[in-house]
Amino acid sequence: MDTLDTACFVAWFEEAARLVRRDRDRLTELDAAIGDADHGTNLDRGLTEVIKALAESPPDTPVQVLTSAGATLIRRVGGASGPLYGSVFRQMGKALRAPVTLAGFSAAFEEGVVALERLGKAALGDKTMVDALAPASRALALAVRDGVGVREAFEQAARAAAEGAQATIPLQARKGRASYLGERSIGHEDPGAASAALFMAALATVAV
Ligand code: ADP
Ligand code: MG
Repeated sequence: MDTLDTACFVAWFEEAARLVRRDRDRLTELDAAIGDADHGTNLDRGLTEVIKALAESPPDTPVQVLTSAGATLIRRVGGASGPLYGSVFRQMGKALRAPVTLAGFSAAFEEGVVALERLGKAALGDKTMVDALAPASRALALAVRDGVGVREAFEQAARAAAEGAQATIPLQARKGRASYLGERSIGHEDPGAASAALFMAALATVAV
């Protein structure tokens, strides 16, 4: 099977919620270093709400999963990351066509990342979640080009996101709260890039 069904998308958010819960304190500590120490709790609360909403109104399609998750994150996460993540998933939902192939997933994800960059006015290297998500999107596109299977493609995207998050350490933040620190933001991993890597790691575990 190389199409991704509704259950895959629900499983993606369930696994993301599990990983964020597991790493909540680490994410909050990263945010304590260069922000306001709320990223782990923000996202844990938001994803708990996402899972609750998906259980209360079970989605029939992958688009409904993304639309519901995006709307919940926008509404329920206090902090910049909620609307930013929400815009990724909402735009991805708008762009997705059934049945969802790897190529379709990749193209929709790319549109989600573009929406994020537009909303946050952030580019690669600004030390934000874009630094994990844009390389992941590129890795997916390359995997599609090379005819790689879904699982391997998602694993490559997860690796690219993890490397992208690590690569934020020596950068100076140019967007968000961390940018107020100027050069003092150097030497710390960006919390949003770290959580974005968890989203991509979650994706790699749900591939059929
Ligand atoms: P807040 O900064 O409002 O407390 P969070 O702590 O939940 O929100 O999220 C912080 C993360 O949001 C940052 O680590 C960064 O990755 C991301 N972020 C902040 N501003 C932007 C932006 N303009 N564009 C992209 N990502 C951003
Ligand atoms: Mg914060």
